[in-house]
Amino acid sequence: MTSAEAANHYFKKAARIMDVGERIETLLATPLRELKVQVSIELDNGEIRTFSGYRIQHDNARGPMKGGLRFHPEVDGDETLGLASLMTWKTAVVNLPYGGAKGGIQVDPGKLSLKELERLTRKFVDQLHDVIGPTRDIPAPDMNTNPQVMAWIMDQYSKYHGHSPAVVTGKPLELYGSRGREAATGRGLLFVAREILRDVGMGVKGTRFAIQGFGNVGSHAARLLAEDGGVVVAVSDVHGGIQSARGLDVPALFEHVRRSGSVKGFPGGTPCRGEDVLVADCDVLVPAALGGVITRQVAADVRARIVLEGANAPCTPEADEVFEKKGVLVVPDILANAGGVTVSYFEWVQNLQHVTWEEERVNGELERVMKEAYEKVGQISRSRKLPLRTSAYVLAIGRVGKATVLRGI
Ligand code: GLU
Repeated sequence: MTSAEAANHYFKKAARIMDVGERIETLLATPLRELKVQVSIELDNGEIRTFSGYRIQHDNARGPMKGGLRFHPEVDGDETLGLASLMTWKTAVVNLPYGGAKGGIQVDPGKLSLKELERLTRKFVDQLHDVIGPTRDIPAPDMNTNPQVMAWIMDQYSKYHGHSPAVVTGKPLELYGSRGREAATGRGLLFVAREILRDVGMGVKGTRFAIQGFGNVGSHAARLLAEDGGVVVAVSDVHGGIQSARGLDVPALFEHVRRSGSVKGFPGGTPCRGEDVLVADCDVLVPAALGGVITRQVAADVRARIVLEGANAPCTPEADEVFEKKGVLVVPDILANAGGVTVSYFEWVQNLQHVTWEEERVNGELERVMKEAYEKVGQISRSRKLPLRTSAYVLAIGRVGKATVLRGI
């Protein structure tokens, strides 16, 4: 199954349960616009290189489209389409006035210099600026893109359209970014973890977490869960993993990562392979790295009771079925990792109103949004006896479908 087919699989499953009808189903599944561009830049050594860039705008019934931009060698049209549709459902689950989009450039940014990356980003915006904008489509960080990249996007877009901070979110604090945005996805995971653990008669305190990925999502999740009394028993990044049944000293781990650039080699635990983290002995597994890592085989070996999807689409549909059979609770990406786009929304609101919120306000509002979304999804799950993922899709499709019909087709 390709990425787009996998995303469509969940959509279809819920749409059939809701009986939305074939025509509305096709309408909701089909993207509005798929843009593919060739981005050519001169490297520092004078060589010319061409990269493929994508922006797929999936749906705008509920508002301007929203979603990240990733720089990764595996970016392609199919993956981007799947991720764009996830954004439509994600923004609807947390009830933000947005549609969904996604984009990226097929590139290994580690192989480019900072100047080359800047040229690539600006050139991409040159080709994209007509179809994005504060009321059209608002990009944000995703895999391997960061506040600096967002600053270049804002600057380049503003050259065409005048000063426009609200064209992109996840910007640096010094340049219209929002307090709390950097940690927002991890903090959203914490809020959702608190809710689901309470539902199963546990709490974050003393619960054992295994976290795959130590980037923007995984590292903040580890820090915040540990601060809340959670026991982080295993973590990994692209270089390797580390585990300790008694729990890792997370602040010391951060210090190690700051010095060495990886969790690998952390003296406070036993080294393991990255994939071992997925099957570690724990209560909650947080896949917070690449998509598609939890296959049917991996799912069969997962020992956690709860899977909290920090990444987008970390479980294949086959794995999802295995979890359902095993009685493992999966909190889907479109709910679990929606904290990032929620604070992106707060950033956009601040930009449009020319105001700055205190971090306390950002975190407080985020908590309210995440709790409400969890509650709504939980209600559907209990009343219709559906897994959380299908319930989240039911909620989202209901909202997007109603907006579509009310606006008129
Ligand atoms: N890339 C993040 C996501 O997948 C954030 C998107 C945004 O802030 O617009 O949810």
